[in-house]
Amino acid sequence: MATEKVVVIGGGPAGMMAAGTAARRGRSVTLVEKNRRLGRKLLITGKGRCNLTNIADLDELIANIPVNGKFLYHAFHRFGNRDLIAFFEEWGLPTKVERGGRVFPVSDRSADVVAALERFLAHYHVEVMQGEVTAILVTEGQVTGVKLKNGEFIPARQVILATGGRSYPLTGSTGDGYRFAAALGHRITPLKPALVPLESPTAWIREVQGLTLKNVAIKIWSKEGKQIYSDFGEMLFTHFGVSGPIILSASVHLEEGRLYRLVIDLKPALTPEQLDLRLQRDFAKYIRKVFHNALGDLLPRALIPVVVKLVGIPPEKPVNQITKAERQRMVAVVKGLEVEINGLRPLAEANVPAGGVTVKEINPATMESKLVKGLFSAGEVSDVNAYTGGYNLQIAFSTGYLAGSSC
Ligand SMILES: Cc1cc2nc3c(=O)[nH]c(=O)nc-3n(C[C@H](O)[C@H](O)[C@H](O)COP(=O)(O)OP(=O)(O)OC[C@H]3O[C@@H](n4cnc5c(N)ncnc54)[C@H](O)[C@@H]3O)c2cc1C
Repeated sequence: MATEKVVVIGGGPAGMMAAGTAARRGRSVTLVEKNRRLGRKLLITGKGRCNLTNIADLDELIANIPVNGKFLYHAFHRFGNRDLIAFFEEWGLPTKVERGGRVFPVSDRSADVVAALERFLAHYHVEVMQGEVTAILVTEGQVTGVKLKNGEFIPARQVILATGGRSYPLTGSTGDGYRFAAALGHRITPLKPALVPLESPTAWIREVQGLTLKNVAIKIWSKEGKQIYSDFGEMLFTHFGVSGPIILSASVHLEEGRLYRLVIDLKPALTPEQLDLRLQRDFAKYIRKVFHNALGDLLPRALIPVVVKLVGIPPEKPVNQITKAERQRMVAVVKGLEVEINGLRPLAEANVPAGGVTVKEINPATMESKLVKGLFSAGEVSDVNAYTGGYNLQIAFSTGYLAGSSC
């Protein structure tokens, strides 16, 4: 019967997982995607390598989801990271684990992730339709079907909303799902960029753009002197400010329109005393050199002129004339490099948006709306988001699986 059909709106990771899972249960499923290809955003994830999940245990998974993590307990119980890894193995995509528990395809190609999902869809005869949904129709609180831009109507008593959010709109995530859900009475929590690079007016940043720092510790302070965030890992300098995994994760906790101070510890493994001893060793080794030529073992080359200027020691000063007080200034700068932060990059540049369909109106055990019967949601359209590390894709796959199992 045509009305027994399940329609999935959106062919990203959440929609593909939902469609295939419903079809495996014997449901007749149509997946409607407005792009010509499925998974356009998936293709650009993890710099084209797709960090598809993280091997963290359940509590750690939840801890890495600062917004509404607890809402996802059910979804992760039903289909967690081990299940996802086994799923991809089953569909011909072996995976590997990298630093920080991040899971990638062995091939390092996100296109292979999309291809595995396409095999899954084809095997269970999901009908993939190119089209743009313009509305979800509801009669007396029950879904009755979806309308497409070309005027077509697809009848369905169950619709899974997997339209993604509103970041990187060229990939197809243009916020349509928020409009559909709002039109059906759902509350949309305000959108703001999350997992987004930060802007800085600090002048020396431009001198080191492109430089990546590994194994650094950061702290972010509000103007009022409150510590907002701390982390350890990799970051980079860009033409507008700072980016990289730990900066993106920090951005989740920052508000637009406010000023912050980022403090970078370039040598977090050393105490100030140990760093001072290290400096003394380096200066002894380069006893015949001048200050700015004696720092090559300690700092990345691009950063040396910046640190030298901030320390205020003449660059041409022979190292054997550097005083203890000057060395201590050096220690303070290396362990506390300060960058002003005066904004977040725009939502369109965010890896994920914060905000979306409020989880208070979604049943966490099924992903069905509490307001409209037959309306399910999956993935980024709802108000959940995580740090970097593969957690956001695990959310998409787990909620997609749960919606596809429950519809
Ligand atoms: C640059 C970048 C890198 C990232 N890297 C990672 C990473 O390595 N690991 C990680 O975990 N997360 C990563 N993310 C986040 C991750 O990509 C998202 O969390 C994930 O794609 C969300 O999946 P989704 O299925 O909910 O939405 P999407 O992937 O956005 O898919 C939604 C789909 O719905 C379609 N659609 C929208 N409206 C309609 C409509 N009206 N009709 C029909 N179709 C419609 C869209 O065209 C789109 O294909 C990254 C994000 C970005 C931007």
